[in-house]
Amino acid sequence: MRIAMVGSGYVGLVSGACLAQFGHDVICIDKVADKVGRLRKGEIPIYEPGLDKLVVDNVRAGRLTFDTSLAEAVGNAEAVFIAVGTPTRRGDGHADLTFVYSAAAEIAEALRGYTVVVIKSTVPVGTGREVSRIIREARPEAEFDVVSNPEFLREGAAIEDFMKPDRVIIGVETNRAHDVMAAIYRPLNLIQTPIVFTNIETAEVTKYAGNAFLATKITFINEIADLCEKVGADVHDVARGIGLDGRIGRKFLHPGPGFGGSCFPKDTLALAYTARQANAPQTIVEQVIEVNDTRKKRMAQKVIEFCHGSVTGLTVGVLGLTFKPNTDDMRDAPSLDIVAALEAAGAQVVAFDPAGMKEAARLMPSISFAESAYDAASGADVLVVITEWPEFRGLDPRRLKQLMRQPRIVDLRNIFEPEELRSLGFAYDGVGRRRPH
Ligand code: NAD
Repeated sequence: MRIAMVGSGYVGLVSGACLAQFGHDVICIDKVADKVGRLRKGEIPIYEPGLDKLVVDNVRAGRLTFDTSLAEAVGNAEAVFIAVGTPTRRGDGHADLTFVYSAAAEIAEALRGYTVVVIKSTVPVGTGREVSRIIREARPEAEFDVVSNPEFLREGAAIEDFMKPDRVIIGVETNRAHDVMAAIYRPLNLIQTPIVFTNIETAEVTKYAGNAFLATKITFINEIADLCEKVGADVHDVARGIGLDGRIGRKFLHPGPGFGGSCFPKDTLALAYTARQANAPQTIVEQVIEVNDTRKKRMAQKVIEFCHGSVTGLTVGVLGLTFKPNTDDMRDAPSLDIVAALEAAGAQVVAFDPAGMKEAARLMPSISFAESAYDAASGADVLVVITEWPEFRGLDPRRLKQLMRQPRIVDLRNIFEPEELRSLGFAYDGVGRRRPH
């Protein structure tokens, strides 16, 4: 198959490289010339484990190329994927579809022969129809079908998720488009991946329902963690206790500072907006959004209370800034709220993150950055763990204690063993864990 991928960000680049690995001929397009220039030189603009090798291998094999203009690639393609951003629209929380609609208009101009236009971006229900209308209006004679194929990959495990997905959802309405999509994903038949064909609206809703459910699960365990703290229970044991029930499942029951990232916050907002418009309000999702927003803000207060009510003049070492480990993505990361509130309360923040500091420096210009986790702990009055990067788990608490001005840790991801730290003389607070009486 000849495929054009419009948008080469986290989703477009990973999907493009993986589709090339499936054996298709893929051209990844991005309008940011610098990004395309770097990709052509073999430089990967994002941090995603394994992506550099996958891209280089497929470029070498002649199956993956990059371009800034979509005209030629779209003209020659059998399938054109739209993988542009759909950020939150200012003001009302709905998804901003400007990039999707302008990509659709550009694609319309370039279509030649029968082409399947696949929407991979996360878009509210109804967008597929609108994309179809835009193309039809611009090119009444064009031969095309619009398909919804939402992406479920997770940053940090994106290649594995794309190559071995739990399922693929395809919203399609003609046999011709069905066959093109089946051919694109045929390699997944070997590993018996369920491929669920639906109509376009169903596929669009499925993506939002999935993300909203996961956001709800996280928010649920976070509130249970609050209860555990108050009553002397341990949230990890509770999570295990309920998670072993097959109807609940063990994943996504890790308490923390609240969900962030480029998907859950914006997708829950967009779903709530769509549902209100459709007169079918999603009250659970609306609550999840509110509880999570409050939680992110409250985490700084937790640190302040732990420091006996004030961080004024204190140095706070921060470990981890990205919204989760193994990515450099800072979009809607809880650290943004927490660090801002700590600074507003008079703290001096020194942070370390293995991959996110370049982007963080842009978003948090007033904080200092450390060279390593130990460097961030050096001279700190309290150390706050915000992202559970694997390398933080191996930190030597004795060394941390020697470096810190005061041995205090607020562990918002529960990566340390409370008893071990307390026995070494640390004051320690986690999330939803029993406090010593
Ligand atoms: P991103 O911002 O990293 O990438 C989007 C890219 O599209 C940018 O590089 C931008 O320059 C490019 N672009 C925009 N308009 C263009 C145009 N007309 N022509 C060519 N290029 C254009 O975004 P992302 O994180 O990859 O997300 C893309 C979509 O996938 C979103 O709808 C998102 O919700 C969804 N999604 C993201 C994830 C994730 O983990 N990041 C997972 C599943 C789904």
